Amino acid sequence: MKYIPEPFRIKMVEKIKMLTREEREQRIKAADYNLFGLHAQDVYIDLLTDSGTGAMSSDQWSGVMLGDEAYAGSKSYHNLIKAGKDIFGYDYIQPVHQGRAAEKVLFPLFLSKGKYAISNTFFDTTRAHVELAGARAIDCVSEEAKKPAVRAPFKGNMDIEKLEKTINELGAENVGLIVLTITNNSAGGQPVSMENIKATADICKKYNIVMEIDAARFAENAFFIKRDEAGYAHKPLPVIIREMFSYGDIFHMSSKKDAIVNIGGILGVKDGANPIIAGIKANCISYEGFYTYGGLSGRDMEALAIGLYEGIDEDFLRYRIGQCEYLAAQLDEAGIAYQSPVGGHGLFIDAAAMYPQIPHHEFPAQVLAIELYKEAGIRTCDIGSYMLGNDPDTGVQLKSDFEFTRFAIPRRVYTQAHFDIMAEALIAIKSRAHEQKRGLKILWEPPILRHFQAKLEWI
Ligand SMILES: *Cc1c(COP(=O)(O)O)cnc(C)c1O
Repeated sequence: MKYIPEPFRIKMVEKIKMLTREEREQRIKAADYNLFGLHAQDVYIDLLTDSGTGAMSSDQWSGVMLGDEAYAGSKSYHNLIKAGKDIFGYDYIQPVHQGRAAEKVLFPLFLSKGKYAISNTFFDTTRAHVELAGARAIDCVSEEAKKPAVRAPFKGNMDIEKLEKTINELGAENVGLIVLTITNNSAGGQPVSMENIKATADICKKYNIVMEIDAARFAENAFFIKRDEAGYAHKPLPVIIREMFSYGDIFHMSSKKDAIVNIGGILGVKDGANPIIAGIKANCISYEGFYTYGGLSGRDMEALAIGLYEGIDEDFLRYRIGQCEYLAAQLDEAGIAYQSPVGGHGLFIDAAAMYPQIPHHEFPAQVLAIELYKEAGIRTCDIGSYMLGNDPDTGVQLKSDFEFTRFAIPRRVYTQAHFDIMAEALIAIKSRAHEQKRGLKILWEPPILRHFQAKLEWI
């Protein structure tokens, strides 16, 4: 598998340093075995997230200098609206400061106690905002997604049969929203096919439920549709993106992912006459800022307007997904299991396969994340039972469908040599994985989104 060369050259660099093994062991212990507690300067390769960690281009940095900081109706706001309308084809575009801000603004308009929201898979903050609105979140991901070794395209798909069955069980009037996450982050960055987007929209129409798209990685999803779905190979990405969004009523996105900015988010409503827009504006003004900046500075909106176009460039996406495939090919050779085929924004290593002796309530994916830091200063995170947390009603630890350790790849940041180090570290850890007898226990946890703050200890 050949590494696809970078479609850019480097103009500015940032120094990184590998600590000694002894120092790394001391640092992770001091952080209570929570990777979020490490100082970033103690990390050599930071794969904690691909969110807000991308490298902006010289064009984007130029845009930063042009940012118009007017409180209302700035030029940068209008540049962002123009880009948003052009790319997504929606009438109303609302800037917000990040994805979860859009969730806070939007979800209480549809969800309350006794209501349900259904998704292929809810992302963690998205699930949290469903629960904060008083409702319950239900996942209906395809069965294939639950088998990491099964190599199938579009494993992020909604299980349409299960979706319809769930709606009928709950009563359509109790389902406030259907949220289609593209790509499906928690299932391994797996894409959703155009056919599945359309089928989900058909169910929404049939039962008169709003179809909301959680579009953080819409560009990667469009690339997969073009590459793998019949009938799309010759369509330009902008056309595919327009079709994807044409099936939704509302979308929200964290622009810290595919729009390659360090902060920002967007909320969109297809129909400019939709009365929900008044509610969005009101909530935005209360929580985020006036609706023409939504918690962003003018320069943020300017960089975002430019980044939206850079993120849908096909050469860039081919290189980006090629990086993941390059790493995956080395893992295939070493017999290391991961959610396959690779997703858009990284690799999700199957930690349950690496540590079959460690049960879900001892957090095998967190064990692997700690081992990677100790081995090579690589920071990853758990996307498994540790992240999923406890049942909000009973407080009992939930069992995740997956125990993944996520290698989230920042955009335009790391090079081929860094990817070789990632592969070498995983191979070294696998060779001694059988010696790891027990996992971790939680010493302290907050009631919601615990994985960001919890304190852990080895059993
Ligand atoms: C990142 C993300 C969010 C939340 O966005 P933030 O900008 O981190 O607040 C929501 N949904 C998905 C699918 C995401 O990947």
